[in-house]
Amino acid sequence: MANGNGSGLSMIEGWGGIGVPGRELRSENLERVTERAVLSRGLGRSYGDSSLPPASVGEVVNTTLADRLLAFDEETGLMRAEAGLSLFALNRIFLPRGWFVPVTPGTQFVTLGGMVASDVHGKEHHARGCFGEHVTRLKMRVADGRVLWCSDEQHGDLFRATIGGMGLTGHILEVEVRMMRIPTAWILQESRRVDDIDDFIARLKDASHRLPATMGWIDLLTRGKNMGRGTLMAGDFASPDIAPKRFPKPLPRVTMPFELPSWTVDRWSVRAFNTAYYWKHLPREMHGIVHWETFFYPLDMIRHWNRMYGTRGFTQYQCVLPDAAGPSAPRRLLEILTSRGGASMLCVIKNCGPEGKGILSFPMPGTSIALDIPVRDDTQQLVDALNEFVLREGGRIYLTKDQFTRPEHFRAMEPRLPKFQEIRAKWDPEQRIRSAQSVRLFGDKP
Ligand SMILES: Cc1cc2nc3c(=O)[nH]c(=O)nc-3n(C[C@H](O)[C@H](O)[C@H](O)COP(=O)(O)OP(=O)(O)OC[C@H]3O[C@@H](n4cnc5c(N)ncnc54)[C@H](O)[C@@H]3O)c2cc1C
Repeated sequence: MANGNGSGLSMIEGWGGIGVPGRELRSENLERVTERAVLSRGLGRSYGDSSLPPASVGEVVNTTLADRLLAFDEETGLMRAEAGLSLFALNRIFLPRGWFVPVTPGTQFVTLGGMVASDVHGKEHHARGCFGEHVTRLKMRVADGRVLWCSDEQHGDLFRATIGGMGLTGHILEVEVRMMRIPTAWILQESRRVDDIDDFIARLKDASHRLPATMGWIDLLTRGKNMGRGTLMAGDFASPDIAPKRFPKPLPRVTMPFELPSWTVDRWSVRAFNTAYYWKHLPREMHGIVHWETFFYPLDMIRHWNRMYGTRGFTQYQCVLPDAAGPSAPRRLLEILTSRGGASMLCVIKNCGPEGKGILSFPMPGTSIALDIPVRDDTQQLVDALNEFVLREGGRIYLTKDQFTRPEHFRAMEPRLPKFQEIRAKWDPEQRIRSAQSVRLFGDKP
């Protein structure tokens, strides 16, 4: 995670800490600054190289100064804003007024443009799909320089390819999305200790029939019959009769002040973290009212927590295993990780509902598993082994998290790729819009 390279350029990094030397162009005027750019990025919370420019270009538009809220209709909940507006700001504007985004990722430090380009999903995927299902229109600058609106009705191919298209169809300038009314800003949460991975799958399914938001944290260092033990959380916005009358106060945050040396993320520190997390949950089952930030964004409480992984950084491996792969598929995936001595500080498991409209969107009906893996000499081999398993089981990986997938694995697990490439080629025949990830995975020109 270097901050400079001595050549006058700084490093542009993904959240995993691996980056390229380059420059970020910033302006309040997105239309102007995107005129000749090859890629836009938001708050850089994608883990791998999807928000990085190709090495030969080294320049990317950073949208975060274009963060104006442009319109809101109290009747329909339709909200329109510039692509650089952060979810953090949006939450502070809308929650006190009784509105929330229908779909949120596990951090608020993302922009609207990034949420569309990744077509983010959250704890509520089984109930509300991906973010893109709630997006009604996008204003874009496309490769030939035109600025246009797209939606289901207008340039529908561009719209569906942009949702989950990792910024490869053009620059998103404005986003129109339908917000969701909420009864209060408090969450009625149930949480329980779960004994093993098989129990997790059953309990996730059960909770998702009852509640709109569900997810689990897994302790990956426990082997044998308790492999995959952890904590399951499920909940919904609390009704006014059970919630406190006052609006929840902001929660304190701490900052990870500097990067730790890589050796600190060893097996023992991972074990200590996971054991503490598991036993924090002393009674087997708890019900209660909790703060919305505690429920949706627990990792946001420590700013720059990614520095914990040290100077070599980390990758997040996230895949979805389809229901058809059977209930033992998650156990078999985790066994590949543990048998190779892979340590994961954080493992999140979620239940995915039906596919959405984004042509390359990640979720499919099944179980999503996300693993934070510190970068080591053998990380490429570990990711290869995980990908070969996911491929055999008919699953796929999440591009937003990826840094190590090989193009042949990606092509084999992504039958939707030719359709996506056909639409890209129609809108950008010269392949102007591209990223470090599209060079690596899609074979774009460097
Ligand atoms: C702690 C944490 C938890 C997370 N939890 C989840 C989760 O639960 N579910 C989930 O789906 N994701 C999750 N993510 C991933 C995150 O939601 C996505 O990576 C999101 O896209 C990041 O938004 P960003 O503004 O930082 O985008 P960036 O990381 O800057 O960019 C992401 C992609 O969007 C493109 N992009 C960004 N802005 C534009 C624009 N204006 N026009 C065109 N393309 C653009 C970039 O080119 C890139 O391909 C999590 C990330 C973190 C760090």
